[in-house]
Amino acid sequence: MELNIQRKLQGIPPSIFPIMTGLANQYNAVNLAQGFPGFDADKDLIQLVNHYMLAGKNQYAPMQGVPILRERLCAKMDEQNGYSYAPDSEICITAGATQAIFTVVSAVIKKGDEVIIIDPSFDCYDPVVRFNGGIPIRSALKKVKTLDSNGSQHIIFSYDWKDIQSKVSKKTRMIIINTPQNPTGTVFNKRDIQELRKIVQHSNVIILSDEVYEHIVFDDCSHESIGKYPDLVERSFIVYSLGKTYHTTGWRMGYVFAPKPMMECFMRAHQYQVYAVPTPLQYAIADYTLKKDKYLELSAFFQERRDYFVQCLDGSKFKSISCPGTYFQLLDYSAITKENDVDFAKWLTKTKGVASIPISVFYEDKKQDNLLRFCFAKDLEELEKGAERLLKV
Ligand code: GLN
Repeated sequence: MELNIQRKLQGIPPSIFPIMTGLANQYNAVNLAQGFPGFDADKDLIQLVNHYMLAGKNQYAPMQGVPILRERLCAKMDEQNGYSYAPDSEICITAGATQAIFTVVSAVIKKGDEVIIIDPSFDCYDPVVRFNGGIPIRSALKKVKTLDSNGSQHIIFSYDWKDIQSKVSKKTRMIIINTPQNPTGTVFNKRDIQELRKIVQHSNVIILSDEVYEHIVFDDCSHESIGKYPDLVERSFIVYSLGKTYHTTGWRMGYVFAPKPMMECFMRAHQYQVYAVPTPLQYAIADYTLKKDKYLELSAFFQERRDYFVQCLDGSKFKSISCPGTYFQLLDYSAITKENDVDFAKWLTKTKGVASIPISVFYEDKKQDNLLRFCFAKDLEELEKGAERLLKV
């Protein structure tokens, strides 16, 4: 009999990130596609890992993470957002934010439950819901024209709360929000929090808040964490990434907060999916979180890179979209071609030597916005090299 394992995976597309990184490597392109830093982690942090490995911290950690790291991350959350989670029962250290997201959804979503996802949405949300029998219900951000303080016109993405509200039904079990948002950079403001509150209050809807870019917000923006709002906290899982904050995406380290009863559900899934994550990395990061400047300086550090990249593109046919947060810059290429963004991104990689991420893959209907996403978490020389190549298009 012919084996049939395909059926379960129908409708789950291959992730765009390895595709574009593979193409970048093959064509020796400047890789501004997949979002990872082009510079190394701090040597002090690496030395701490070595230290704890040599000190014998090499066996299983507790399932929810080593106590000292949990305590320090709870203290950090409290200091930043004023919410005090219990280190012994309301936090879990995970193998990156992606695992945290998978585990949350697998712990909560049953067959037929609806999950609201806001497009363009990070690529794992929709498949993770499907894997667990849920039904993704997608709403799209809207593009809005605004004027900045100099009177210049800008395009920004903003939440279409009317549309989101219209997608809520009796079957809605979860809404996934992501602020600062990958790929558009959109950040929640206080009005967005109000609108979210209207949708979830008096309902059975859980919030999954992906806040992995919490420390990367620009200009006058600040990060509106769900952790600042106790009435929302009580129905939320909040997910963070240590890879994004400490330039260690390859370590696959993240964490999730939730009120105790919700964390108990999470742990029931986590124990059989991952059990626990690497012990020496946890001890090292626990020490390193005490160096607050390492994360407090991130916004200024990345804003310099964003501004440099945009400035280097001055005079090019690519038009930049406002980027209030994350380390991704969207560029509109409609003055160059009307070609679809996947083909254009591949062409740009192969013939011009710059890799990016096409945005249509993040939409349910593969909507063509003529936008490409460029990661500016790179050294200035690399950004300059990428921009020089884009200027020739
Ligand atoms: N979060 C990163 C990005 O958006 C990489 C994600 C991944 O490779 N899975 O590019």
